[in-house]
Amino acid sequence: MLTLKGLVIRESDRGEASKSISILTAERGIVNVFIRGGKKSSKNASPSALFAYSVFCLEEKKNVSQQVYYLNSCESVKLFYNIRLDAVKMALGMYFCELLGYIATEETVSDEVLRLALNTLYSLDTDRMDMELLRAVFEFRLLCETGFRPALLGCAECMKSESDMMYLDIASGSMLCQNCYEDKGEQNIVEADRTMLYTIRFVALAEYDRLFSFKLSPKYLSQLTSFTSRFMRYHVRGELKTLRFYKMLK
Ligand SMILES: [Zn+2]
Repeated sequence: MLTLKGLVIRESDRGEASKSISILTAERGIVNVFIRGGKKSSKNASPSALFAYSVFCLEEKKNVSQQVYYLNSCESVKLFYNIRLDAVKMALGMYFCELLGYIATEETVSDEVLRLALNTLYSLDTDRMDMELLRAVFEFRLLCETGFRPALLGCAECMKSESDMMYLDIASGSMLCQNCYEDKGEQNIVEADRTMLYTIRFVALAEYDRLFSFKLSPKYLSQLTSFTSRFMRYHVRGELKTLRFYKMLK
């Protein structure tokens, strides 16, 4: 028997009575679990529903080609109930989960990624943050935690930590100051003034208790969301369908 703590990021029907779920765990990345009679059983229903953070007791069985996990029992640690009560929140939460499923592998998932996901859902559940800011924070920080954090300490050539304008290359993740940067019409350059640079650094590096309680003026919120959208488009090819759905509702 295996005991794992994890967040349910996907639920799907398996036949008439059963279902399977995907849980995000710090130890094993994403684990797929089959729940016999899961569509009917009420005992395990809420701790195995989407957005539930629970402790799962699993039976491991070796199939011909892969490891299969069956649910024995589960108990919830935290249920983000309020997310389900609002269609826009629900859509955004589903997008967060789909993005996690898309990006998180055994190699890229860490305790940090799980903590980021839980803090983000908590923030959505309790209205701690503007939803568009929360989306930008989650998208950019998730990519940072899974290997795409740009080199934000300073200019890649002269090491200067800031100038009135800095030029960040989304593709290479390196940054140049205004003295070293030469405009060659490259497509992946983001211009950041001092405030924007501090904001990007903050989202990339701040502790979670500070990260989820900051605010931005409309001007910089719009710059940040435009930056993260470009960063996402470059690293995550194609728009996820849950994101399209969220954009339709908001
Ligand atoms: Zn420089």
